[in-house]
Amino acid sequence: MDYSFCDCHTHTEFSACAEDVTLRGYSEIARTTSLSFAVTDHSAQIFYPPDNRWGFWSDNAVELFESCRDGGRERILDYIAAIRAAQCGGMLVGTELDVLPDGRKVFPEGLLSTLDVVLGAVHAMPTIRHERPLDEVHAEFRFQVEALAGHGMEVLAHPYRLLLGAEVPVSDELLAWSVRFAADAGFALEINSHKQHPDCDVAMTRVAAEAGVPIAIGTDTHRRSEFGDFSYHVDILERAGLPPASWPRHLWRPAAPAREAAAG
Ligand SMILES: [Zn+2]
Ligand SMILES: [Zn+2]
Repeated sequence: MDYSFCDCHTHTEFSACAEDVTLRGYSEIARTTSLSFAVTDHSAQIFYPPDNRWGFWSDNAVELFESCRDGGRERILDYIAAIRAAQCGGMLVGTELDVLPDGRKVFPEGLLSTLDVVLGAVHAMPTIRHERPLDEVHAEFRFQVEALAGHGMEVLAHPYRLLLGAEVPVSDELLAWSVRFAADAGFALEINSHKQHPDCDVAMTRVAAEAGVPIAIGTDTHRRSEFGDFSYHVDILERAGLPPASWPRHLWRPAAPAREAAAG
């Protein structure tokens, strides 16, 4: 099997939860190998002030957002400039976009379209924090996914991680909704190996493939040992009934302009 995966999802020291990974290290990999990958740090951990990088995950997320908009814009601009300066080989410049509970993006106006890759993630849900009934949790999930799509998300990262981590069931209906909406809105669904939920990933991959929704491959690397390890993704693809010969048809790749930008 010599398929060359594009890893849509990696973190650097710009993400507060990253461990031993550095932008310099990725740059070295890009310079010395033919690997293709996107650097996609958490937008909220850059936008929120350095002394409150987890502020987005609190009940004050909106207030804090309002109070740091100018600084947040500067920090995101500095982030993009830093990753662009390190970009070479098959490295792409992206973000893992967060949205507030009201659907606004945690990113300055006019900058998402300058990136090569825009992941979106449901990372914080007040309905889960406050143990609201299941129908409210699912409604908030759908609202955030719709908001992310409205902001131009290309890949929904680890679609159900937050729900599954909180032991919120992912119903067949919610899964079918996600795939249908991804097809309509034109984004891919990610198989993510950082926190693994194989049964759900197999089900999602099977339904997505049937519906013609692209499947993105992400390691969500937070520590070096995760980078370049696609064994989980291969396992999920095969368990979902997708042999390697079908991968070029089903797997998401960044759009051509982004690849050209990385090569230039
Ligand atoms: Zn994430
Ligand atoms: Zn991530």
